Amino acid sequence: MDLVILGTCAAFAGKNEACSSYLLSCGGQSFVIDTGPGSFGVLQRYIHYGEIRGVFLSHLHADHVSDIYTMRYAVFVAQRDGLAKGPLSIYMPKSPKRTFAFIKNAIKREFSIEKITEGLVVRIEDLSVGFLRGIHPIASYAMRFEHRGKTLVYTADTRYFERLTSFAKEADVLLAEATLLEADGEMEEMGHMTAKTAARLASEAKVKRLVLTHVWPEYDRKKTLAEAKTIFDDTAVAECGMTIVI
Ligand SMILES: [Zn+2]
Ligand SMILES: [Zn+2]
Repeated sequence: MDLVILGTCAAFAGKNEACSSYLLSCGGQSFVIDTGPGSFGVLQRYIHYGEIRGVFLSHLHADHVSDIYTMRYAVFVAQRDGLAKGPLSIYMPKSPKRTFAFIKNAIKREFSIEKITEGLVVRIEDLSVGFLRGIHPIASYAMRFEHRGKTLVYTADTRYFERLTSFAKEADVLLAEATLLEADGEMEEMGHMTAKTAARLASEAKVKRLVLTHVWPEYDRKKTLAEAKTIFDDTAVAECGMTIVI
């Protein structure tokens, strides 16, 4: 699997960085994970939108979904011109209900919507995707992508909880949110992790590599990296254009 980082900012886009979005390619197929603001333009540096096979939205906060509203026009054009066949599969949680209904209404012609639920396993040829509901103000799902013996786990937005460790167990790459720094404290009610908590998760789950993402745009990423490295050495902070071979 190849993972290209398209955007890594929490909450709002930074000067040179879009919000959460990742391009996963395996077995000749490409999938987009989250479509944060500014990410769709970045995506087109790597593939044509007609080649997207599916979209996974971890949760319906604007910093993870907003580009889906305009991406639909590109998908429409690709379908009209025969560059993409049929409606594009989009996997997303069914709540909050009003946001779900709003998105569904906006994109229903171009996308075929599948609802993410706990325990769902999506199989697309050799790729399997499992989901675990995190702890966040709205339903947010961590995802475990497995393809030909290799594993990528994406935490999405969540605070730490014990089941996340078994869900991430021995992943080749753990793409973990690290919105906060040590000075913020855990701020558990916000449903986010510090860089150190993400590193502790990587260590407990015995993953091979940790990639931190969903970083607060105003934070110094060197600090995010340094705090995580005190616990888990094989750590990197994601940045736009970074390609990770899994
Ligand atoms: Zn977020
Ligand atoms: Zn969120």
